Amino acid sequence: MTTPIHLSYAEARARVLAAVRPFPARSTALEALVGRPLLETLRAAYDLPPFPNSAMDGYAVHAAATAGAPVELPVVAVVPAGRVAPRALGPNEAMRIMTGAMIPTGADAIVPFEDAQRIGSGEEERVRVLRAAAPGAHVRAAGRDLTRGAIVFEAGRALSPHDVALLAALGAGDALAGPRPRVGVLSTGDELLSVRDPLVPGAIRDSNLPMLAALAAEAGGKVVLAERVGDDPEAVTNAIRRALDTCDAVMTIGGVSAGDFDPVKESLHALGAVELWRVAMRPGRPQAFGTPGGRLFFGLPGNPASVACVFEAIVRPALRKAQGFASIDRPRVRVRAAERIVSKPGRTDFVRVTLKPQGDGWRAAPAGEQTSGHLTPQSRAHALAIVPEAAGAVAAGEPLDALVLRWPDPSNVEPAS
Ligand code: AMP
Ligand code: MG
Repeated sequence: MTTPIHLSYAEARARVLAAVRPFPARSTALEALVGRPLLETLRAAYDLPPFPNSAMDGYAVHAAATAGAPVELPVVAVVPAGRVAPRALGPNEAMRIMTGAMIPTGADAIVPFEDAQRIGSGEEERVRVLRAAAPGAHVRAAGRDLTRGAIVFEAGRALSPHDVALLAALGAGDALAGPRPRVGVLSTGDELLSVRDPLVPGAIRDSNLPMLAALAAEAGGKVVLAERVGDDPEAVTNAIRRALDTCDAVMTIGGVSAGDFDPVKESLHALGAVELWRVAMRPGRPQAFGTPGGRLFFGLPGNPASVACVFEAIVRPALRKAQGFASIDRPRVRVRAAERIVSKPGRTDFVRVTLKPQGDGWRAAPAGEQTSGHLTPQSRAHALAIVPEAAGAVAAGEPLDALVLRWPDPSNVEPAS
C-alpha cells in the first residue's frame, strides 16, 4: 500500500511546477496563433505605419501656403490609397488625397474635405482652402504607431486577436509558439454513468469528465482522450498506461482517497514515478502527482468541487507553464469577505464565491454551501477566494485574494439569499 506524502498547498504547487518541462516551441501560422503563448521576443521589422500617410480624405498641401486662408490652390494630382503621387508637390499647389495614401514629397499637412471647396475639374481643378492647416495636420507620421526594431511582444504573451492584427501588419506570417499539449482525462468509479445513459438506483452521472475536458481545453490543451474506466484496478492501470503513451498530460478523477475501492491509488506502484499526496487544501486533499515517462500525471480527487479547485490551484498553472505562458494563473484580485468565512490554520481554503462591485473594490460572498460534493457553488461562483494556510476564519470585511473564473455579468447573477 502506498503511503501518502503530506504537503502544504504551497509545497505541492512548487513541486508540480518544478517538475514541469516546457514543451518545445513550434513555428505556428498566424491563423493559429490566437490564444497561444508566443515563445520568442518579437521586434518590429519596419516602422508602423511604414510611410507617412493621410489620416483624412482631403488635400495634401504645404501648411505655409494656407496661412492666409481662404486661399485658392491648383489641384495637380489625385492620390488614392495604395498609389504614390506622380511627382513632388510644389509650394503653392494641392493634391487631392485619400485616407491611407502616402503623403507626397513636399507636402506637410492635409486639409480635410470639410475645410475646402472644390472648384472645377480635370486639368482646371482648383481648391479653395477655407481654414489654415497647421504643419503636420492629419498626417500619420511613419513609425508613430511602432518604431522599427522596437519590442512588439515579449516571450510568454498569450496572443489575442488584436495581437494577431499587429503581427499581420508587421508581415509576421508565422511565429514561434507553444503547441497545444495533448491531454487525456480518465474518470474512475463504477457508480458513474454518461449524461445519456438511463439513470439507475445508486448511480450518478459523470459530471467531472466533461468539466475537466472543458477546463483543459480552456487552459490551452487539446483533449485527445476522455473516458470512463470504472473501478477495476487492472483496467484503470491499463487505461492510464495507454493514455500516457499518447498524451503529454494525463488526469484521472477519483480513486485516490482512503476508500475500499480506490483504483488509481492501487495503480501507482505499477506506474512508478507517481506519488500519493495529502495536500493541506480544501477542497481537494487527496491527490497523486508524478512524471512517469516524462509525461505529466495528475491524480485528482473525485468530488466535483475538489476537481474544480485542484484544477485551478495546481493543474492549470502546470499546463500553462508547460506551454510557455508567462501568466499561469487566473487573474487575481483583492476582495473583501461579505460575511464570515470559516477556515482553520494549517490548510489553504479555496472558497467558491460570487463577486459584487462595492466602492472601488469587490465584495465576495460564498456561492452556496462549501461542500465538496456539490456542483452548484462552483457553477455560480465568479471566483475562488483563497484563505491562506496561516489564517483561521476570515471576518466579514477582511481582505482576501481571489482567482477570477468569470467576471460577474447579468447572465451569471448572484443567487437570491
Ligand atoms: P472517490 O474519490 O473516487 O471516492 O470519489 C469521491 C466522490 O466523488 C464520490 O462521491 C464519487 O461518486 C464522486 N465522483 C467521483 N468521480 C466523479 C465524476 N467523474 N463525476 C461526478 N462525481 C464523481
Ligand atoms: Mg471512486
